[in-house]
Amino acid sequence: MDKSSVTAPRNAGSLLILGLGSGIVAGLVEGVGLLFFQRINWERWGPMMHVSWEIVWISPISDAILFLSLALICIVVFRFAPRLPAVRVLVFLLTFLTVYDWLTLTNRLYLRACLLLAFGVAVAFARWCGKREGVFLQFWKTTTPWMVAAWVLAFAGIQGGKWLQERNALAHLPPATPGAPNVLVIVVDTLRADHVSSYGYSRPTNPNFDRLAQQGVRFENAIAPCSWSLPSHVSLLTGLYQFEHGVGSVQPEPWLGWGNKGMGGFPTLGETLEHRGYRTGAFSANRTYFSRDLGFGRGFVHFEDYFQSPSDAFVRTLYGREFARIYLKRSEHSLVKRTLRKLGVTSLLDQDAEGSGSYGGAFGVRKRADVVNQEVTEWIDRDRQRPFFAFLNYFDVHDPYGGPRDYSKTSWPQQSEVDAYDNGVKYVDDYIGRLMEELSRRGLENNTLVVITSDHGESLGQHHLRTHGKALYWELIHVPLVIWYPGHIPAGVTVTTPVTNAAIPATIMDLLGAGAQSPFPPSSLSALWQTGGVPHWPDPLSELAHNAISDKEDQIARTLVPTASTGAMKSLVTPQWQLITHETRDDQLYDWVLDQAESNNFVHTPEGQATTDNLKSRLADMMMPRK
Ligand SMILES: [Zn+2]
Repeated sequence: MDKSSVTAPRNAGSLLILGLGSGIVAGLVEGVGLLFFQRINWERWGPMMHVSWEIVWISPISDAILFLSLALICIVVFRFAPRLPAVRVLVFLLTFLTVYDWLTLTNRLYLRACLLLAFGVAVAFARWCGKREGVFLQFWKTTTPWMVAAWVLAFAGIQGGKWLQERNALAHLPPATPGAPNVLVIVVDTLRADHVSSYGYSRPTNPNFDRLAQQGVRFENAIAPCSWSLPSHVSLLTGLYQFEHGVGSVQPEPWLGWGNKGMGGFPTLGETLEHRGYRTGAFSANRTYFSRDLGFGRGFVHFEDYFQSPSDAFVRTLYGREFARIYLKRSEHSLVKRTLRKLGVTSLLDQDAEGSGSYGGAFGVRKRADVVNQEVTEWIDRDRQRPFFAFLNYFDVHDPYGGPRDYSKTSWPQQSEVDAYDNGVKYVDDYIGRLMEELSRRGLENNTLVVITSDHGESLGQHHLRTHGKALYWELIHVPLVIWYPGHIPAGVTVTTPVTNAAIPATIMDLLGAGAQSPFPPSSLSALWQTGGVPHWPDPLSELAHNAISDKEDQIARTLVPTASTGAMKSLVTPQWQLITHETRDDQLYDWVLDQAESNNFVHTPEGQATTDNLKSRLADMMMPRK
């Protein structure tokens, strides 16, 4: 044994300081690296787990806890085996974990290569340190307080910066019109209309939605502008179709932030309401496609997406992702899952679609409707001086289906995928009811305009498809839409004219009496519930950009039906027909009124061909810039 290791301070304190200091360093680099490589790897946005600036102070906590735990284990082991080279073993372990961490966060190297390289570096570094234990431990003794200070600075800078930005934005809002109503827009992600009871579904999935529909206006044939979240949410906030806003797929996050470029740079509902003195907030449970990272922050003073709970924060750190990848995909009877359940850490076990679980990576954890409700009510209570505009995305209907595990079972059988999907629908409806109760308890229900809709439907096996975003069939674009504003709009009205829910911003501004100040296309739906209605209404358009990424299911499906993996698609819905066009495949024409399952394609009949030609020229006219 050489001289320096004999004289090295081997007390527990030194090992703990080493664990803490190196954990913070590993975590700070990890946090910045996760942000950096998320941008570099943006083309794999869909299967990726996402982060925002908060990760820079969250990752060090996770790594410091992990490293400190290892230091503690080492301390205990070395109590019983004092002849083991304590510092060297701990340095080996921490170096291995740090190097592995930094290599894997690139998301571009093979895991085995990272493991091997980390092992090699750890062996060499531990050997090198073994000869200089005293100096090495002294280095961490001096450095660790600085690392703690760096963490405090990161925490204060990021959280304080957010707080200041929000306060500053609120301070610069113009005064609101006295008595201006609050506006609440609820998007139930992935909710197809035919699974909503007031749309004729046989199961009582939506008692709360139905009650609001009876007190307001329900659109029997509302059509989503796209069959997946990102373009649809842009339309729901800008009032524009995809060919107008241009956001058909994920776009790289600008290095200096979105500025005014998010959502194609077009005026948004949030921004317009801010100009009218509204306090604006978005509460998203769809953290893949409705987040600040994708440019949706503009027009929202307050935005809640990631990090709603310690579990969610943990799975976004690198070792959290590793834990989720290795342990959370195991069966419900696995030791880890049973232990976590016994410990009450159930939120970690509630799988989300976010993350790369389906591609061999980690599953994220769900943000449930109860958390979204908690976030929005806390935010409402923060300031009651101004009217609010809250935009909610509930993600519980989205796959994996079923609602939370502890959610009490519904009255229908619990066997099929459809049964599970309906559980999610019922669960969200419960929370829509609870949110309305919260508003009522605060005396806000008489002065709040509520709009409930979805960003797209879902294919539950129809047309050889699962989930959404691959085609534009009826089940994928037909969504519920209710507008509720008692005393200002009639109760119990059902509008059967097909409408696009991209008309929501224009309709809200119209109901607020904005008149010519509304920057949205002049398509307020209010004309449809006024007596007499209107004889002609623009046919709703849906668009789906070419999506080159195709999974196994899609590869089978696209041999049977045209999907977006072989070309861009468009759909036009008239009061009788749905035309679906495809960049490279045949057109399709369905009589959606008589054949909602769309099993009978009319395109090759003489009448169908004439209708198709007529609708295609109407579609071409529509795609011209609006006057
Ligand atoms: Zn969606």
